[in-house]
Amino acid sequence: MTASMLEVTDLVAAYGAVQALKGVSLSVKRGEIVTLIGANGAGKSTLLMSICGDPRPRSGRVVLDGAEITQRPTHEIMRMGVAQSPEGRRVFPRMSVLENLLMGAQAQGHDPGPELEKVFALFPRLKERQAQRGGTLSGGEQQMLAIGRALMSKPRLLLLDEPSLGLAPLIVRQIFSAIRALNETEGLTVLLVEQNANQALRLAHRGYVLVTGRITMEGTGAELLARPEIRDAYLGGG
Ligand code: ATP
Repeated sequence: MTASMLEVTDLVAAYGAVQALKGVSLSVKRGEIVTLIGANGAGKSTLLMSICGDPRPRSGRVVLDGAEITQRPTHEIMRMGVAQSPEGRRVFPRMSVLENLLMGAQAQGHDPGPELEKVFALFPRLKERQAQRGGTLSGGEQQMLAIGRALMSKPRLLLLDEPSLGLAPLIVRQIFSAIRALNETEGLTVLLVEQNANQALRLAHRGYVLVTGRITMEGTGAELLARPEIRDAYLGGG
């Protein structure tokens, strides 16, 4: 767990005049789960999206496994091994579960069979429902599908944007334990964005706090959970 899988340095990203990231630096080591917590509008989604090249960073650097990806087009970044499960899941509602999953493998040109077996082993519910249309799944199942689709590209870095959003506690536990299993058994490197700070920090090896486009704190999950400022701002004071 020493080599960096992802190195983000002084990243600036903006939507017109709105500067969403004001010089963000963070790193994710190979085999780590790193979580980024922060309030609504802090810039968490923008960070994941600009790692993927959209919005394209105004300045700063993104290095994946030693290769600079900062100004590359999104499809190239994906081909180099980054996969994203976006906020709001965005499954294709009229396609079947199986078709949704195969879409995730499309750009890679490898036999999707082995990855499909792994996704079905991780989320047996998707195997049972493989012929069903994506749009008819429950919220939790759609989240499983979004993660499964990202895994189909055999990523070395998985970016997850608020996988717990709007889901019941039991389903959140299932999703988080699947992420832990992927990390422990496959050694998958994960950068996780969450508003559910408590569970995300318990899952993560390390975490960062993002406040209006700037990193204000970092530490191990346990260190951050113990900080009074974090408890007050993100854990309901508990
Ligand atoms: P949330 O948890 O609500 O998704 P976030 O931390 O992911 O919040 P971002 O979605 O990255 O935050 O938004 C960061 C800032 O950029 C906010 O001020 C937001 O209003 C702005 N922003 C995001 N997307 C756009 C866009 N497409 N056009 C203009 N401004 C945007």
